[in-house]
Amino acid sequence: MTDLLVERARVVTPAGVERGAIAVSDGLIDAVGPDAAADAGAADTVVDADGMVALPGALDVHTHMHDDDLFPDGIDFASQTASAVAGGVTTVVELPTQTPVTTPEALREKAATCADLAHVDFGLVAGNVRDPDLDVDGLVEAGTADFKTFTADPYLASDAAIARLMRRVGEAGGTVRVHCETQGLLDDARSTIDGDDPDVYMDSRPVEAELDGISRAGYFAEYADCPLHVVHISSGSGAREGSRFASRANVPVTLETCPQYLAFSKDDVAAKGPFLKVNPSLKSADEVDRLWDAVRDGTIDIVGTDHFPTYRENRERGWDDIWEPYAGLPGVETMVEFLASEGVHEGRISWPRLNELVCAGPARSAGVYPRKGSLRVGTDADVTLLREDEYEVTADDLEFCGGWTPYEGERWSARVDTVIAGGEVVAEDHEVRSEPGRGTFLDRPL
Ligand SMILES: [Zn+2]
Repeated sequence: MTDLLVERARVVTPAGVERGAIAVSDGLIDAVGPDAAADAGAADTVVDADGMVALPGALDVHTHMHDDDLFPDGIDFASQTASAVAGGVTTVVELPTQTPVTTPEALREKAATCADLAHVDFGLVAGNVRDPDLDVDGLVEAGTADFKTFTADPYLASDAAIARLMRRVGEAGGTVRVHCETQGLLDDARSTIDGDDPDVYMDSRPVEAELDGISRAGYFAEYADCPLHVVHISSGSGAREGSRFASRANVPVTLETCPQYLAFSKDDVAAKGPFLKVNPSLKSADEVDRLWDAVRDGTIDIVGTDHFPTYRENRERGWDDIWEPYAGLPGVETMVEFLASEGVHEGRISWPRLNELVCAGPARSAGVYPRKGSLRVGTDADVTLLREDEYEVTADDLEFCGGWTPYEGERWSARVDTVIAGGEVVAEDHEVRSEPGRGTFLDRPL
């Protein structure tokens, strides 16, 4: 018996786009392709895709959604994973923010807390590591092989601490994720800046700080024989810098960028002000063009969002003093629509490339491919249907509770229509149908 049948879809595969159906039973994909509808027979629920594109449910492997000591009331793993599922993201990997997750007990506790609240399946990253003498094996045992550290404030780790962390994580078979900006260059740049207008913020985080940070993280990883994941690369030059290490193949190196670095340059700050305050900061329009090249040609492996939720009132204060609000942008709900609209529909990337950037690539990074990030028979029935639709982006149409989006007023052409997770319809046109606690912790296998 088929529980759910998606028919008349344009199904995205690693090789192309194929007309067909997706049949689901017991939360798993039973059949997919041109003959799947005929083979499936009668289904309890039929979703007529009417030519819409069917992608695997997307994964966002870089989110900050839950931190009781940092985020205000209403911003937690429930409201933020609701925003994820509304945007076609059916799996997230949650990173620490202010509250450290550096012991097996802390990891287990966060997994339990988040599992009670989650609309989507999720993994966790340990961090933010400043002291490398932590129980690496215990953390792996507790369910993560990913460790986050920083070359910049506010979680700056010393060079020696990063080297030692990488040696230990490399031995354990894990990966170290590094925020790559060299603090000394940030300090010097900041010392040259007067004033508190939004546009001066960009000058406080020069591209060279990122390039130096990536280069050093690359050499550290080679020295320590530790797989490296470079998070949120903000420039095309940064992607090229990272690719030097990826191509040497001494250790695995994966490179991530975020939609905001493809959507905006410094030039947009005059209009959007504090609504574009993010670290690393936005770079030049030339760097944006080069970053699209790197996304297209495979230099960039993964797009994640670095989703960081705040309320609109908090952000507004940055018009008077850009140094005051937290840096960080909400983005989990808009990632797929942005890349489909500005990437695929504008001819910058193909559907299979989008599939690699937000489905297959991140699933491999999270250790859950092909269970997640593919539409193969036998895998989790997580599917995002996208329709062609001309519209103006507005926070009013989003599930996100913060009341703002950096993309306000942009005109896009692809919209998340129906989202299926574990074989159930969990969102329709950004209206969430699932309940908190539906998602489960993906105890990362090594
Ligand atoms: Zn982050």
